[in-house]
Amino acid sequence: MQHPDTSQRFMIDNSAIRGEWCLLESTFQTVMAKHDYPLEIQNLLGEMMAAAVMLSSTLKFEGRLTLQARSKGPLEFATVECTHDKHLRAVARWKGDIEGFNFSQLMESAQLAITIEPTKGASYQGVVALEHDNLSQCLEFYFKQSEQIETRIWLNQGTGKAAGLMIQVLPFNATDSATAGRSEADQAEDWNRAVALADTLTAEEHLSISAEDLLYRLYHEENVRIFPAQPIDFKCTCSRERMSKALISVGIEELNRILSEQELISITCEFCNTSHNFDKVDVPMLFEPTNPDNDEHTH
Ligand SMILES: [Zn+2]
Repeated sequence: MQHPDTSQRFMIDNSAIRGEWCLLESTFQTVMAKHDYPLEIQNLLGEMMAAAVMLSSTLKFEGRLTLQARSKGPLEFATVECTHDKHLRAVARWKGDIEGFNFSQLMESAQLAITIEPTKGASYQGVVALEHDNLSQCLEFYFKQSEQIETRIWLNQGTGKAAGLMIQVLPFNATDSATAGRSEADQAEDWNRAVALADTLTAEEHLSISAEDLLYRLYHEENVRIFPAQPIDFKCTCSRERMSKALISVGIEELNRILSEQELISITCEFCNTSHNFDKVDVPMLFEPTNPDNDEHTH
């Protein structure tokens, strides 16, 4: 049986069009079960999760992609992280009553940061103002501006699932063997047709059918090559070691002061709700020179 949460890459033969598809169910539901999110935030996080999966699929190296939206409006932040092997985690925080709020109302003076952190090498961050009516349009604008790649993105969520579809057309290249014999005008026509067909997709179809069925439904007159499905899972990267490092940076005096008032220092990971507890025995041990998490003594 196919893993329910998957992403798949595809290409339309004899054209410069490539695409990504994804469907999230258990991963989406796991994230939603961590906090009591209003529907408006669930929808936003679902769309951001599908987008992060598809964007991470375009990376050509191992690492992590993060989408983080921050606004001066009711949405304080929404963060989604997806690794190259499709481990995903997400969290959002909002304030006030946001019932019935649309994207623009949530995103007053908002920005979206797209951060790419290769396992090896320097990180890269692009920022786009969230000034369009929805996340898809903001990301399409980002690709056009920063990467000069014509991109269309469809994001849907509902019935405990989130789904994404993205198509991109590579810049025209007369010597590209994959599009041999196609002129620039042909390529523009291919693109307009691919977009028009994808625009006929309903949210209900998008959330219920497999990549194969969806691509057949849209592009059965073309030759579509579909690449193997990649499973997607919820996985948090928090650990006691990371929390230890955070505590060490606070300093022993402050930690001792807190422990004089309470039994435990408890740090809860916002992504997975796991609590990491440190008591009067644990805290001094953090500062022992033999503690591998304690970098302080090496400086
Ligand atoms: Zn965690």
